[in-house]
Amino acid sequence: LHELLFADLGDRSDRVALVDGGTGASLTYSQLAGAVDRMAAALAARGIGKGDVVGILSPNTPYYAVVFHGVLRAGATATTINALYTADEVAHQLADAGAKMLFTVSALLPNAAPGAARAGVSDVVLLDGAEGYPSLGELLAGDHPVPVVEIDPAEDVAVLPYSSGTTGRAKGVMLTHRNLVANIVQCGPILEVRDASRILAVLPFFHIYGMQVAMNNGLHVGATVVTMPRFDLPEFLRVIQEHRTNLVYIAPPVALALAKHPVVDQYDLSGIDTIFSGAAPLDVDLAAAVSKRLGCRVSQGYGMTEMSPVSHAIPDNRDDISVGTVGVILPSMECRLVDPATGEDVGVGERGELWCRGPNVMKGYLNNPEATAATLDADGWLHTGDVAVIDEGGLVTIVDRVKELIKYKGYQVPPAELEAVLLTHPGIADAAVVGVRDAEGEEVPKAFVVLQPGASLDGAGVMAFVASQVAPHKKVRVVEFIEAIPKSSAGKILRKDLRARETAS
Ligand code: ATP
Ligand code: MG
Repeated sequence: LHELLFADLGDRSDRVALVDGGTGASLTYSQLAGAVDRMAAALAARGIGKGDVVGILSPNTPYYAVVFHGVLRAGATATTINALYTADEVAHQLADAGAKMLFTVSALLPNAAPGAARAGVSDVVLLDGAEGYPSLGELLAGDHPVPVVEIDPAEDVAVLPYSSGTTGRAKGVMLTHRNLVANIVQCGPILEVRDASRILAVLPFFHIYGMQVAMNNGLHVGATVVTMPRFDLPEFLRVIQEHRTNLVYIAPPVALALAKHPVVDQYDLSGIDTIFSGAAPLDVDLAAAVSKRLGCRVSQGYGMTEMSPVSHAIPDNRDDISVGTVGVILPSMECRLVDPATGEDVGVGERGELWCRGPNVMKGYLNNPEATAATLDADGWLHTGDVAVIDEGGLVTIVDRVKELIKYKGYQVPPAELEAVLLTHPGIADAAVVGVRDAEGEEVPKAFVVLQPGASLDGAGVMAFVASQVAPHKKVRVVEFIEAIPKSSAGKILRKDLRARETAS
């Protein structure tokens, strides 16, 4: 990966590679490449090299990229950790990944320090500074030779990100250098990433989408990547305005805010050419509302950690493609739609589980041969666990996860479709649908609804609204009003949390 991104900086040496949207601290491409070399040298001097794993637990900053690429340059593996993790979750990932060292920031020490201690990781370095810890600045100031390492691109694991844990415990995903490089190259011609781009990276770098699509694709094309440590709507809008970012990567909850929140009108967002959404279903009406309000293109892609991550996207020159689809398959990939019950391919327009194959598909799950065998078959097909439909033109529409489909009287009801219908109601701010058991033990769709401030809508009104728009078997049959829909930091609805709350009550 280092070779792809840093071997030849060409005319981009003095261009800004990364800038902190809040503080304005920045690194040019040559400063970044130099810092990555010094970082690799410092790691080698500490005994870190091939086969070693280094944890990174930090919000997005330009120096995240220095640590990340320095670890890979030293021949080691980076395991990127969710900044919202508790001490136990940090400990679990560090121990599971076999990490020898941890990079974090002082603000996260309350979870990072006990997490590292429990996992037996004693070498903790801070990206900023704090009493009692070595800092990244000290490491970079050292004078050590840059290590010479032989990378086997197809075998050596470059990163060990963990899946989002939306459906169960997060799994460590082994991605090789070849996996990462392949997906960056595959995305090149398809995503709207141009030399002149100013990319907003608010999606966390610990998750594969922020890491590969916002950070690494951006660096590959010589763009300026503007980092934000977390999502906060007014600050997000301010950074877009100040830095005139033209390509903004988001997950659907951000689209919801952009379409519905009054504060959006107070900012000049005219610098945006494209808003690109991924990670969870984007409703077509919501996308249209954002596009109209901001006067920009809204595009979509699909992927998963296991595919480094993108397999499908709407190419930037295809304005004929509806954003209700996730577009076409990337170059060098194949996909099939399979009936999971029979293993047979389904026809055009029919629903099936999406299977994908290509150079970006993971090596396997870490320490979990059963999960690997259940997901990656002997012929190299990755069974995504997502239900999709493909039309004659090869355009793919994601329906929902196989595991989330609600089985109502023998029919399969995709909750994502009902959520999209609910969101079109002006009185509804947010919504999520899960299957619950009714008094007869039958699984039925239940909607959790967050009302817009001042909206007067009752459960019967919600049910009638949905019933007027969907086939009878898809009707919402139970409604509960709540304060907020639980979502992961990657922007996914945590339906498992809603189901757990159901069984608890
Ligand atoms: P876990 O595997 O731990 O349960 P996760 O599947 O949410 O968590 P990720 O790898 O972050 O972990 O997410 C991949 C999943 O996100 C896909 O399998 C799919 O369900 C969903 N997804 C991604 N992009 C889209 C999209 N554009 N439309 C619909 N769903 C999407
Ligand atoms: Mg998954």
